[in-house]
Amino acid sequence: MKQIILTGDRPTGCLHVGHYVGSLKQRVELQNAGKYDEIYIMIADAQALTDNAEHPERVRHNIREVALDYVGSGIDPEKSVIFIQSTVPELHELTVYYMNLVTVARVQRNPTVKAEAAQKNFETRMPVGFFCYPISQAADITAFQATAVPVGEDQTPMLEQCREIVARFNAIYGETLVMPEIVLATNKVCLRLPGIDGKAKMSKSLGNCIYLSDESDVVREKVMSMFTDPKHIRVSDPGSLEGNPVFLYLDAFCKDEYFVEFLPEYATLDEMKAHYQRGGLGDVKVKKFLNQVLQEELAPIRKRRKQWEQREADLMEIVRQGCARAHEKAAETLSLVRHAMQIDYFS
Ligand code: ATP
Ligand code: MG
Repeated sequence: MKQIILTGDRPTGCLHVGHYVGSLKQRVELQNAGKYDEIYIMIADAQALTDNAEHPERVRHNIREVALDYVGSGIDPEKSVIFIQSTVPELHELTVYYMNLVTVARVQRNPTVKAEAAQKNFETRMPVGFFCYPISQAADITAFQATAVPVGEDQTPMLEQCREIVARFNAIYGETLVMPEIVLATNKVCLRLPGIDGKAKMSKSLGNCIYLSDESDVVREKVMSMFTDPKHIRVSDPGSLEGNPVFLYLDAFCKDEYFVEFLPEYATLDEMKAHYQRGGLGDVKVKKFLNQVLQEELAPIRKRRKQWEQREADLMEIVRQGCARAHEKAAETLSLVRHAMQIDYFS
């Protein structure tokens, strides 16, 4: 069986370091490991419209930003197909068929839907499209016959729901759809990177992000303004690591070599953490170090992103071709689905 990746992001804003450690970085590693036969990376504009119906200009603008963030992060258009969701009509058709395989109660129980509905105050005025997006996500994944879906942890319930749809479809109509597996980051802190405000998730919609496209002085400002342990007032006070985003970001990004380069008084992050917990290590010093680490990590991404900005027409042409390839693949799957469902009347 072919090994195929499908993953993507909503064009609701530029991509941030949470996306990077939670999903993008891993996609690039999987892409470069060369173990996958096909890789599809989707800019989920139709899904973004489910909660941005009144702001199509926002979604349109962010297609460009997300595409730039992809190539900036190391997605290689020679190896990965970048495409826009709404240009593949098969995805919508599959969604409609899958709707019959899922109950309203099951979607209501989906923890991601619940959490996002609460965040967006959708409890009493939920757009039907938004409600159905776990189903459309199943369409996206299965249309590409994906075996692997590298995403952040918040997507786990979506993958579970997709797997249920696959199982039910295959049970009713015969073995047709490919069962996907979720691929999560191995570093636990990367599963759900908190915001710079210490909130549980860095999220475009919450405005608590360090973006991959932020200039270096913006990154520094954001880092220096980060939430830390509110009880750590004097340098001599013992500090807590729990829910302290500065240390969580170090967990996500720091390598021992950065200590050699920038802070040789510690050999490892554990040593630094122990000092913070004992007392005697100030937040400003930790933040300055985190800033240096992030600058090192983000500089090559920013540089590549800027190079692509100069070639925007080429990038849009790459995406256009990606849409055509995605359309072709999804059409193949749809014809299998139609056949299995006995609605291939004239073939
Ligand atoms: P929105 O608020 O518009 O939903 P978002 O920031 O949640 O935006 P998405 O486009 O919904 O971003 O998510 C894209 C991918 O990035 C998903 O795989 C998601 O799991 C992952 N992801 C998003 N935020 C984080 C985070 N803070 N940490 C780790 N992974 C994340
Ligand atoms: Mg999201």
